[in-house]
Amino acid sequence: MPSKQKNAAKNAKPVKKITYEKSTDKIKLRTDKQKITTQPNRKTNNKVVSDSDRNLKDTAYLTQRADQIFEILSKDELPETIALEYEDHYTLLVSTILSAQSTDVQVNKITPALFAVASTPQQIAELGVDQLIEYIKSIGLFRSKAKNIIATSKMLIERFNSTVPNNIDDLLQLPGVGRKTANVVLNFGFRKPTFPVDTHVFRLANRLEISNGKTPDQVEQDLEKYVPEKWALEAHNFLVWHGRNVCKARKPECTKCSLSKICNSKDKVI
Ligand code: SF4
Repeated sequence: MPSKQKNAAKNAKPVKKITYEKSTDKIKLRTDKQKITTQPNRKTNNKVVSDSDRNLKDTAYLTQRADQIFEILSKDELPETIALEYEDHYTLLVSTILSAQSTDVQVNKITPALFAVASTPQQIAELGVDQLIEYIKSIGLFRSKAKNIIATSKMLIERFNSTVPNNIDDLLQLPGVGRKTANVVLNFGFRKPTFPVDTHVFRLANRLEISNGKTPDQVEQDLEKYVPEKWALEAHNFLVWHGRNVCKARKPECTKCSLSKICNSKDKVI
């Protein structure tokens, strides 16, 4: 199972330009009457997306766009997994709970000392909340995270034979585990094609117009619908790394973005 990963800088690559706009409840393609400003028959990665293709049903068009986006990102040589350091399913679960509203860097600073003394549900349950706090008190929400990790560890012992379940319904029963955490565990721990939506995925899915979701759940549903199966395992990872390194929240580095030619975001700065 993978552990330490490093960031990778991304360089821009020439790709084609596509323009479409969002309606309130689902993405709606522009019509010719709305004066599409893009060029016809724009080529990228050996694919052609003509204006006539824009008349396809939304699902077909957006699936094609998502395919195009991940095809481009796949050439950026992004790290193969998340930045969180972990040893197995359980330590991945604990690290992911700890990462809520904290950075992976902050979590990676505290987990080595914790996992050196306790790295199983039984060992961490035996630590108790107060002792666990001593290891994690440098990160935000440490009190509630400590309570949830202890409660989760006890539930794993009592109901799941001290193992981390490999399905979302069981994972969501664990204290402190929401859809993002559950999907991270399923994706990176069990290699299931899930779409955890964190702040980076939420922002990029909207900027790249493969979703106009207003909530993480809506974005997750759009990604499930539009991301081709061949990218489903990697989509989250690609978006997270691109969001961290290039398409940053406040100052996206559009001049070095490999997606700049197909990006129509209002946040684009070129
Ligand atoms: S906003 Fe800028 S950095 Fe983000 S995807 Fe668009 S061009 Fe790339």
